[in-house]
Amino acid sequence: MQKPAICGGTPACPEPVQYGRQYIDDADIRAVSDVLRSPFLTCGPQIPALEKKFCELTGAKYAVAVSNGTAALHIACIAAGIALGDEVITTPITFAASANCVSYCGGKPVFADIDPETYNIDPDAIEACITPNTKAVIPVHYTGQSVAYDEIAQICKKHGLLLIQDAAHAVGTRYKGNPIGSLGDMTCFSCHPVKTITSGEGGIVTTDDEALYQKLLLARSHGITRDPSQMHCPSDDPWYYEMVSLGYNYRLTDMQTALLSSQLDKLPVFSARRKEIVKRYDEAFRNVDGIIVQKEIPESDTTRHLYVIQLDPDVLSCSRREFFDAMAAENIHCQVHYIPVYRLPYYQQLGYPEGLCPNAERLYERILSIPLYYTLTDEQVEQVIFAVRKICAYYHR
Ligand SMILES: *Cc1c(COP(=O)(O)O)cnc(C)c1O
Repeated sequence: MQKPAICGGTPACPEPVQYGRQYIDDADIRAVSDVLRSPFLTCGPQIPALEKKFCELTGAKYAVAVSNGTAALHIACIAAGIALGDEVITTPITFAASANCVSYCGGKPVFADIDPETYNIDPDAIEACITPNTKAVIPVHYTGQSVAYDEIAQICKKHGLLLIQDAAHAVGTRYKGNPIGSLGDMTCFSCHPVKTITSGEGGIVTTDDEALYQKLLLARSHGITRDPSQMHCPSDDPWYYEMVSLGYNYRLTDMQTALLSSQLDKLPVFSARRKEIVKRYDEAFRNVDGIIVQKEIPESDTTRHLYVIQLDPDVLSCSRREFFDAMAAENIHCQVHYIPVYRLPYYQQLGYPEGLCPNAERLYERILSIPLYYTLTDEQVEQVIFAVRKICAYYHR
C-alpha cells in the first residue's frame, strides 16, 4: 500500500527517482571486459587513445587523464605553481574540491560572490578580491552553464592570473561556439557517475600550453620522467628514470579509461537528451508561481549536469526542507548543490566569516536539484513537473 503524499493524492512517481544516475550499455561493458582480457590493466594503450579522443572533442592541444576530478584540479594547481601564501579566487557555490585543490598546495582559497541570476561567479566580485598575492582564478561552470568567460579571461589577462576552470559539470558545453576545454590555461573535468559521462572515478585536464602539459604529466605520476630532455643526468641505461619533482599516483586504470572512451562516444546523445529535458523543465517552471528558473546566458550552449530550481519564499509558505520532504513523498529524491564551501566547518575554523558572499548564502537557502539524467523518461519528466506544481499549489501563500 502506498502512503499518501504530504500534499495529498498518490505519489507523482510510482517508483523512486533520484536526481542523477549513470547510463551503462553493452558497448561500455564490452570495452571494460576487453581490457580485462588484455595485457595492460594500467599504463597501457587506452590512456593516450582516450586523451587524443578528448582533444578532438574539445579542440584542446593536450589532455591528461587522471584518477578523479579532484586530482585533475590538484595537478592543475601544481602545474600553476600554487604554493604557500598564494591566493586563488573561486566560487562558494561549488563542491569542496574546487577550493581544496588550492589548500592542498598551501594556497588560500578566496571566495568571490555569485551572480544571483546565473548562479555563476560574478566577474566584478572576482576583480574586487584581487590582491598582490592572487595567482589564479578557478571559475566553476555551475550546473554545466558556462561562466562569463570573456569577462573573466579579460580580468586574468589584466592582472597576470592563470585561468583554471572547474568544468566538472560542463563536459559538452560550448561558450560562443567553443567547447569548454579549449579555453583558458587549464580546464578540469570529472567523470564521477553523477556527471554527464563516467568512468566510475575519473578526471581529465586539458591545456594548450606545452609547459603546463609537461608539469601535469609529472604531477600525475610521482614526478618521474623517462624523457632525457627533462633529466638532470641523462643516461642511456634502459631502466633509468629520474624523479625531478614531487608528484602523486593519480593515474587512471585502463579499465576506467576504456569505459570513459566508450561513454564519450555517447556524449552527443547524452547531451541532446539532457537539453530536451531542460527545455521542457524551463518551459513548465517559467509558469509555476513559486519557482525561479536559472538564467541562461546566450553565449552558453549548455549540456546541463544539474537542474536547479529556486524556491521563492515570497510565494511559498514552506521551508526548503518541507519542499524537499514533500518531493520525497512524491518519490522524487532531490539534492542540494551546494552548501557554500566557506560555511563548511573546516573552512569556518580557518576564519572565513558568515555572510562573506550574501548572494551565495541566499541562493543556498532556496535551491533544490531535481532529477536530470539521460534515462529519465518523458513520463517521469512530466511526473516531476506535476509534483512541483502540486507542492507549489499546496504551499502557496
Ligand atoms: C564532482 C565535482 C568535483 C570533483 O570531482 P571528483 O571526480 O568527484 O573528484 C569538483 N568540482 C565540482 C564542481 C564537482 O561537481
